[in-house]
Amino acid sequence: MKSVVRHLINGLWDQEGSLSENVNPSNGDVICSFPIAEASTVNRAVSSARAASSAWANTPIPERVKAVESLIALIRDAYGTEGELTSIKRTIMDEIGKPLPEADIEVLEVADFMNYYADIASEVLHEKVVEINAAMWPTKRSTVTRKPYGVVAIIKPWNYPIEMIAWSLAPALLSGNTVVVKPSEKSPLSAYFLAQLIEKSSLPDGVVNFVFGDATTGQSLVRNPGIDYISFTGSVESGKHIAGAAARSLTPITLELGGNDPALVLADCDIDKTASGLVWGAFCNAGQVCVGIKRAYVVAAIYDQLLEAISARMNVLREGIDYGPIIDIKQLNSVEQFVDSIRQQDGTVRIGGKRGSRGYFYMPTLIEVKNESAAIFDQECFGPILPLIKVNSTDEAIRAANHGEFGLGASVWSKDLQEARIVADQLQCGMVWINDVNVAFPQAPWAGIKNSGVGFELSSQALHNYTYGQHLSVETNLVETRKPWWYPYGN
Ligand code: NAD
Repeated sequence: MKSVVRHLINGLWDQEGSLSENVNPSNGDVICSFPIAEASTVNRAVSSARAASSAWANTPIPERVKAVESLIALIRDAYGTEGELTSIKRTIMDEIGKPLPEADIEVLEVADFMNYYADIASEVLHEKVVEINAAMWPTKRSTVTRKPYGVVAIIKPWNYPIEMIAWSLAPALLSGNTVVVKPSEKSPLSAYFLAQLIEKSSLPDGVVNFVFGDATTGQSLVRNPGIDYISFTGSVESGKHIAGAAARSLTPITLELGGNDPALVLADCDIDKTASGLVWGAFCNAGQVCVGIKRAYVVAAIYDQLLEAISARMNVLREGIDYGPIIDIKQLNSVEQFVDSIRQQDGTVRIGGKRGSRGYFYMPTLIEVKNESAAIFDQECFGPILPLIKVNSTDEAIRAANHGEFGLGASVWSKDLQEARIVADQLQCGMVWINDVNVAFPQAPWAGIKNSGVGFELSSQALHNYTYGQHLSVETNLVETRKPWWYPYGN
């Protein structure tokens, strides 16, 4: 049955705007209709967040924590237990096509990551004394207080439809901001599930608002003068547009953008583990992961062995069980074009290279690449494609890995952890995994450099992203009548 998605503005549901539909990418069935918010609706959402801003900023942190914890409890209820098919997981599976274990981990991480911020908010946001030079300034006292910016715009992609929202939502709210969330037009139903839990939680009306729509809705939001901070996750192209809009008003911004992550496979790697890791890292969420493995550099000494081990694992992957579909027809066409362009440049498709049996499925594809082309270096292929590139040395792998416009993540595969560390130190990107890939911890920053982003999400410091530090300097000597350096000069 088709669901109807509505905006959440000041605690009320509404459906202003023309209606669009979203389909299940596994079979093309329409699963929901959702409104495309125009500038006037966006404006109402921003005004609602603005009206709630002062009371929420002045709510003591422990009370903010309690309200966020009420949301976390609802998310945990919706999660159920590991492996259990609950409605929130079903929604993500229907809308994105994720297999159950991937929907499962997403919902679990949403609750866990939000909980991390609820646990640390009081300590991190607490007023801090600044140690100034007491000999020089014996009567001065300095502190820094973290103040919320005000209204935060949270604009997110579809590939982790609730997790990406939660990563920004928790620190933004706990640090005293109110928010307007603009989920992706490709995942309105999953985001609407989260909005419904928020509406049921004890977060006050207007503190969290959701406007649904497409890029035009996002544009209205970033251009709205009531926005004080922008948290964006999405493609490089959209990120550059948004950065341009933010520059006009000097609105502070975090940009988490695309990646083209290399895997560097060293001669002494554990072949079985590396093959399993590469296959999961490339095909999880059908390769539609910002830190998915998009190119693997394998030293010649073990190339054939690894190729065989990867092939064995790929040959048993099951459509709809181990891997999901591509999100829509446009993206499916773009994946096909990517594979064709590599084929034309001397790439050999060893496995896959064609559509699946239904919906927007594309088979996990292994391509041996002889001449590394610009497409491999500079294009983020958001699909289940693993290009394998033979290199003569680790140094050659490092040089190739650092080539190109992206700098999000990378993985290094070796049994020699010291050697792997030396390699990791030479990689120009925000995150490196050794003998693993695509793992996020709420305690550690999630960041990209070059075209992959500006700033970071996660870690305790994300609470600082959504606040500015106000330095308070107090003169405690109430007896003296003037400072020696004040007017008049020369006495
Ligand atoms: P997208 O850029 O097309 O859309 C992301 C969001 O921005 C959507 O809500 C969209 O409606 C909105 N949007 C698009 N153009 C806009 C504009 N000009 N102004 C305001 N809003 C606009 O990205 P997508 O296809 O949804 O997501 C895939 C991309 O996201 C990939 O490049 C992926 O690597 C990246 N991503 C990055 C991370 C990370 O942490 N670095 C995480 C997940 C996804």
